[in-house]
Amino acid sequence: MKNIKDYNLDELKEEIKELGEKPFRAEQIFKWLFVDKVKSFDEMTNISLELREKLKQNYNICNFEIIKKQESVDGTKKYLFGLSDENAIESVLMEYHFGKSVCVSSQIGCKMGCKFCASTGIPFIRNLTSGEIVEQIIAIEQDIGDKISNVVFMGIGEPMDNYENVINAIKILNNPKGLNIGARHISVSTSGIVPKIYDFADKNIQCTLSISLHSANNKVRSSMMPVNNAYNIEELIKACKYYIKKTNKRISFEYALAKDNNDNIKDADELIKLLKGMLCHVNLIPINKIENGKYTKSSLENIIKFRDYLNANGITATIRRELGADIDAACGQLRRKKLGGNI
Ligand code: SF4
Repeated sequence: MKNIKDYNLDELKEEIKELGEKPFRAEQIFKWLFVDKVKSFDEMTNISLELREKLKQNYNICNFEIIKKQESVDGTKKYLFGLSDENAIESVLMEYHFGKSVCVSSQIGCKMGCKFCASTGIPFIRNLTSGEIVEQIIAIEQDIGDKISNVVFMGIGEPMDNYENVINAIKILNNPKGLNIGARHISVSTSGIVPKIYDFADKNIQCTLSISLHSANNKVRSSMMPVNNAYNIEELIKACKYYIKKTNKRISFEYALAKDNNDNIKDADELIKLLKGMLCHVNLIPINKIENGKYTKSSLENIIKFRDYLNANGITATIRRELGADIDAACGQLRRKKLGGNI
């Protein structure tokens, strides 16, 4: 049966029309699902019994069950959600001065195989549907009794490998008649699937685009991220420049520093050369040490030196605050503990 949360408002109007009902019914249902966050059709009290029956016969309402929740001393909460097909996904809630932000998963497992990622040992199972992506925010809002202001697509999965569903989820999140999370408060991160970056630019979605770069050197980047063998740094940067030209929006480059791998001044020099003159920002992340993983975290002293060197050479860089370190809040780690998996 189809999950009714998979539809954006325009699509839902079409669905409702097929059931022989007026489009305004779709707006009512959309509000029940994404504003009132009901768990059953019977709670939709301004919908006729007859239509409720038709809805029950044709759709289900996806509701996640919290299998596990971990809370960090800094307030970060990590959720493991159970899906209707026995799979599990994770999402992380982070508290910032500007509001509450949720890091969502976009796939069950991931095909990309980044060597520093805890999801690498978990095989790809399937894409999440739009409704399952959105449900992560709904379930967390219900759990905390508060509104989520920001969404980042940085959990398990490569969002641009599940592109259509991610774009549709953004439309649902973004709708003022639903969850009403502004596009500027949504950030999509990619390991660098170049054709989708061009498409994202052409769609001119007002979300922030974030690129997992991690090295300005093809040899080093390929050793960390197999995707670099398909789309190398030159192709990636060309697509990023197209995106900036088309949208006039700043790109955020993620750079996870691993000791003696990509954290020396020569690495910073290559990065400066690569990004010079681009409308961008570099987010430096202390790499998360993963059991059996081959990378170790760069020292804080070294990360500060790296940041200052970039800033002194015209590249805006900041160090991302580490949240939830005591609860393994890096992507994939909670799920990995439940399901096993090795790197
Ligand atoms: S870092 Fe992201 S894209 Fe890379 S393997 Fe992990 S989940 Fe996939």
